[in-house]
Amino acid sequence: MKIIIIGAGPGGYETALLAAGRGIETILIESGEVGGTCLNEGCIPTKSLCRSAEMFENIKKSGEFGVNADNVSIDFRRVQERKTQIVGQLRNGVEGLLRNRLVTFVAGKASMVDSHTVSVAPDGTEYSADYIIIATGSSAARLPVEGCGLNGVLTSKEMLDIDAVPERLCVIGAGVIGLEFASVFAAFGSKVTILEYCREILPRFDGDLAKRLRQSLGRRGIEIITQAAVQKIRENPDGSLEVDYLRKEKSGTVASDKVLMAVGRKANVEGLNLESAGVEYSAKGIRVDADMRTTSPSVYAIGDVNGIMMLAHAAVFQGKKALDHICGKTDMIDLSVMPSAVFTMPEAASVGLTEDECKEKGIQYICLKSFFRANGKAVCLGETDGFCKIVVGTEGLDSENSGESSGRIIGCHIYGPHSADLVAEMTAVISRHTTLEEFRAIIHSHPTLGEVL
Ligand code: NAD
Repeated sequence: MKIIIIGAGPGGYETALLAAGRGIETILIESGEVGGTCLNEGCIPTKSLCRSAEMFENIKKSGEFGVNADNVSIDFRRVQERKTQIVGQLRNGVEGLLRNRLVTFVAGKASMVDSHTVSVAPDGTEYSADYIIIATGSSAARLPVEGCGLNGVLTSKEMLDIDAVPERLCVIGAGVIGLEFASVFAAFGSKVTILEYCREILPRFDGDLAKRLRQSLGRRGIEIITQAAVQKIRENPDGSLEVDYLRKEKSGTVASDKVLMAVGRKANVEGLNLESAGVEYSAKGIRVDADMRTTSPSVYAIGDVNGIMMLAHAAVFQGKKALDHICGKTDMIDLSVMPSAVFTMPEAASVGLTEDECKEKGIQYICLKSFFRANGKAVCLGETDGFCKIVVGTEGLDSENSGESSGRIIGCHIYGPHSADLVAEMTAVISRHTTLEEFRAIIHSHPTLGEVL
């Protein structure tokens, strides 16, 4: 069997490694750098900046821990050098793995010729295979408002490469990307203002978590203006920017040195010539079924390009799902239990159903909450801000058991120290249909943050 994979982001390269490992002849085509958005201009470089920011904040407050560290400052050039070094190191690692597994790597931009053949620019060489997996990812969207193309108006990709910390930063969009950059640059010393269109930040997260995280970011000096519709962006003669917005019929302006546009991402379908392969798509992305198969039976689409869930790990597991389907292999992957995290300070993370989703679906549930301020390890770390909420389904309860203890755990939402790591345990619990009673019988060592669960 032969497979062509278009796009070497986490979805594409992991699927290529898996396919080659199963003895399938695998061609991986990439027009940019191996590693895609995640490794080159997304998850990894931002996490490097997050760590620098966290280190800086910790040292600034180290006096209360009995550590003397006066006159701390940030060397942003060094921050950026570290980020570049980390990205390079990880990219080399992936390139090495692809070589070791004997994946055929083709540099260039692929477009479909038919449902089994692609042509790769610039020289137009054609490659054919039994199956084609499209994993071309997504790109940052820009608001179609006047001034969105001005010099200081940046996407997350451009923001990662700036050479100095802006004195004032206006972030448009309080989604995952907007909040992570806001948190990082507030730590580096920028005066950050966020303009969000919806009533609450992180519209897709648990409302309770979002509200508390907003308050927490506010305490760190980040100004968050919700229900704000950006009207236009203007440039002053000195190069600084003014962002005009409308809120409840009143206009306002945020003065800023840089503006980050973080209002979502759009699927990379342009130039793929999908029509010639009978692959249907919409503004959201390529249409796929539960096995990631497109409207053309020999073509699959995984990751951001299908618009289902724009997360690196979603792309990886959608790739496994697609490959298993191609190989006729049944698997235990449940794509509906997908953890996600926001790397703000403190972090926030979520898996499974939110309360709002339970209400929408008519699911009976109860919520159980605990707070990091009551967790010994969090108190010692000096990171007591945050809480954990577990959602338990109460439908179909065993009548022998009373109330909460017999229901299945169906959701978990955390904000607080290391919540992105803590949620992993609940992902295992939820995907294996664990009940609250079963979970309560599992021992957590003391003193650990995991006890908050
Ligand atoms: P998003 O969809 O998460 O958030 C965009 C935000 O912009 C929303 O809150 C939306 O209401 C707001 N918005 C839209 N139009 C607006 C307007 N006119 N004015 C003000 N606000 C407006 O998108 P994102 O943060 O750009 O992230 C893109 C994708 O990348 C997401 O799917 C995200 O999950 C993924 N991502 C994930 C991570 C992570 O898991 N840590 C990190 C980065 C990106």
